[in-house]
Amino acid sequence: MSLKQYILNKQGKFGEFGGRFVPEMLVGVMEDLEKAFFEAIEDQGFIDELDLLRQDFAGRKTPLLFCENLTKELDGANIFLKNEGLLHTGAHKMNHCLGQGLLCKRMGKKRVIAETGAGQHGLATATMCAKLGLECVVYMGAKDVARQRPNVFWMEQLGATVVPVQEGGQVLRDAINAAMRDLMANSSDTHYLLGTVCGSHPYPVMNTYFQKIVGEEVKEQFTERYGKLPDYLVACVGGGSNAMGFVYDFLDDEVDITLVEAGGKGIHQRDHAARFQAGSKGVSEGMKSYFLHDEDGQMYLTHSISAGLDYSGVGPQVSYLKDSGRINVDFALDDEVKNAWKMLARTEGIFGALESMHALAHVIKIAPQMKGKNIIFNLSGRGDKDLFITTKMVGDENFKEFLRNQI
Ligand SMILES: *Cc1c(COP(=O)(O)O)cnc(C)c1O
Repeated sequence: MSLKQYILNKQGKFGEFGGRFVPEMLVGVMEDLEKAFFEAIEDQGFIDELDLLRQDFAGRKTPLLFCENLTKELDGANIFLKNEGLLHTGAHKMNHCLGQGLLCKRMGKKRVIAETGAGQHGLATATMCAKLGLECVVYMGAKDVARQRPNVFWMEQLGATVVPVQEGGQVLRDAINAAMRDLMANSSDTHYLLGTVCGSHPYPVMNTYFQKIVGEEVKEQFTERYGKLPDYLVACVGGGSNAMGFVYDFLDDEVDITLVEAGGKGIHQRDHAARFQAGSKGVSEGMKSYFLHDEDGQMYLTHSISAGLDYSGVGPQVSYLKDSGRINVDFALDDEVKNAWKMLARTEGIFGALESMHALAHVIKIAPQMKGKNIIFNLSGRGDKDLFITTKMVGDENFKEFLRNQI
């Protein structure tokens, strides 16, 4: 079996990682989903419908850009970016939302639930549900609802019901618990839309499958233009969905891969989300993987300047690829991310999502020593969503004044 086949295997086990660690009540639900998924992807009608939505609704294919100015500035490797920021709703998340949405309809389910922290996953889910005519309920910690008003507003305008979760610390963890309770009570008509390559089988396999279009396009775009494969791929890694989608098609090729975690304010303190630097193996959230947790399985509070990487777990396929030596893992600090964000805006005229700027921060470090090599990084999203963070990050006092005047 090739590595590509193995990463999408029907058991959802990747060496010691992955699996299906769910309450007895949900085993049947996961088995049904698994069966529906593997049947759907053998059905040309399903694939054609997905392709059309990807093209006409989401805006695929997304461009591969030669960053000529950035390349000159760094005076080393040739740098390219895959622009998933131009996908509808501004990030790669739409790829697995469309796939799961169509699958949900195929299974005859009319209701979708999701949990969200910063709101990006909730927003992509609500958008898909509006388009496909599905009822949408998004669980969100009450504290997050208060902090993320703009995304809550968008979700509500798309017709979704946003449920503020009052239990526990009123954050993402509590929203996940609430969504699980909902699923157990309503599994006959409800699909739980999990937004990354984590959780119980089949979610990691399924979301990698729906995301792999990204790397397939990159390979076609690059080889068509240059007649060979790139040398080096770089992506940021939160749960791992943009990373898996971007690198999947290259797993059996001689291409180096580095994934970049959130180093936050530094690895020696606890203010980061670098599972591979400071975490350990364990079982949680339906899967065996790497987590930032203590000996009792209690998750650490993580920190990152980017909400999408601020997460204590990581997908099992990523853990397997790391431990088997196929990929390298690095981290980028908040300050390096800030510099990368500024550099991309000034040189290429693109505001990158702070998540994706972790990948660019790594590229900035390595490019000067790699003259003649071709590096592609995945711009998993665009930066508009980060307006409230970036204005603070660069210390724009006038923006504060603007907000005061709005009130
Ligand atoms: C959500 C998000 C991420 C992190 O999620 P992955 O599953 O690790 O891809 C990265 N980039 C952007 C732009 C996001 O919105």
